[in-house]
This record gives sequence, C-alpha cells and structure tokens, in this order.
Amino acid sequence: MLFAWSFGVIGLLIGSFLNVVIYRLPRGESIAVPGSHCPACGHFLRPWELIPLLSFAGLRGRCRQCGAKISRRYPLVELGMGLLFFYTAWRASVVSLNLFSDLAFLSLLVALSFIDLDTMRLPDSLVVPLFLLGLVRALFLPVQPAFGYSVLGAVAAGGGFWLIARFYPRGMGFGDVKLAAALGAYLGFPKVFLAVFLASVGGSLWGGLMLALRKKSLKQQIPFGPYLALGAILTLYWGSLFMQRYVNVVGH
Ligand SMILES: [Zn+2]
Repeated sequence: MLFAWSFGVIGLLIGSFLNVVIYRLPRGESIAVPGSHCPACGHFLRPWELIPLLSFAGLRGRCRQCGAKISRRYPLVELGMGLLFFYTAWRASVVSLNLFSDLAFLSLLVALSFIDLDTMRLPDSLVVPLFLLGLVRALFLPVQPAFGYSVLGAVAAGGGFWLIARFYPRGMGFGDVKLAAALGAYLGFPKVFLAVFLASVGGSLWGGLMLALRKKSLKQQIPFGPYLALGAILTLYWGSLFMQRYVNVVGH
C-alpha cells in the first residue's frame, strides 16, 4: 500500500507539471523557463506555493501578490493525476517498465484532453510520443498487445477515423485521426474499438445533454479528444475483463 501511496504523491507532482504543459504548450512557451508565475501579475511562485493541492488551499485559490483567482482546474488536475497514479500502481502492485509506460500513457492523455478542451487542437508534440510509446511498448515489453496487434490497431483505428474525417470533415479533425491511431498502437486490435465505442457513447450522451440544456447548439463543435482519452483509460483498466466476458457470452 505504501508503494501505491508513493505513486499517488508522484501523481500529484506530475499533475502540477501537466498544468504547466496544458497552459504553455499551446502558447508555444517553454515548459522549463521561466519558472511558474501568476499569469496576471508575473509573481514568481515560491517553492511552498508549488506544493500540489496544499498551496491552492493555503492561498484560498488566489495569487498571494495580486489576488487574481487561480483556476480550480489546477488542483483538480493534480488530484486527478494523484488518484490515477495511485490506482494504476495499486493494480500493478510491482514496479515494472509496463507500469511506467501506463503512467506515461495516462499523463499524455490528460494533457491532450485539456489542451483539446481549451484550443480544439491535439498537438503533434504529444500525439506522436503517445503513438511511439504504444509501438515501443508492444515491441519490447512482454505485454498485450503483441507488436502485430499494435500495428493493426493503429492502422484500423487511424484508418477508420481518417475515412470519417475525409467524408464528414465537420465532425472530426485530423488531430482525432492521429490520436485514434496512437490509441490503436497502445491498446491494440481489437481493444481500441472498445475505447472508440465508449468515446462515442460518452460524446453522444454529453452532447445530447448539453443540447437539451441549450448550453450548446448543433453548430458548435465539441472536442472529441477528451472522450477518446476517457474511453482509452477505461479500456486500459477494464478492457481485458470486458473482452473476456463478451467473448464468453458470444462463445456459449
Ligand atoms: Zn498575481
């Protein structure tokens, strides 16, 4: 348990780092320099102001110098990453390259989701590493999917999304095509289609709800990246279980 808790703490710190990535990467700013500062007044954060969750609570969600409000999303991303890291390590129960691979997968997906929400874009500088991570993991680690199924997953999911983007360009951007291919490489064939299915269900339900509440109109685009990421995370955790049950049901 101590093992999982340590990873939970690492997750909080990674979440804090992802907040920087989510803010700076779409603006073309350096991730490393300058250090974290208030976007309103430029006040550089002291070390204690960088402590995940606690600093937000200590500052009561405001900049210490100018009083500008700090978005609630910062502590939420930190907490979310802490929980994801804790749960993933707890499931894995031993340190392995595969655990680190899964944690990198989750981190990239969370960063991509929020950047897509903010900007409607999925930057190549995150999607390409995600894609390579999937291929390299399948090639070198004794895990599912095997390399052939990783390539097949990338081609099938990427190809399917490419067709949709080509013939229904309003519904989907090319960034989604590349993300689908990357998820295919990581989750493999046929599991990636479970992720796509869950993403479509999630997207339709949420889109329908927003439409019903008149928060969005039919003309407004909704970013699909966060749904793909959510589908992929659920599939990473429970895809095998689901597939087993499903195949069993079909088999009997
Ligand atoms: Zn400030």
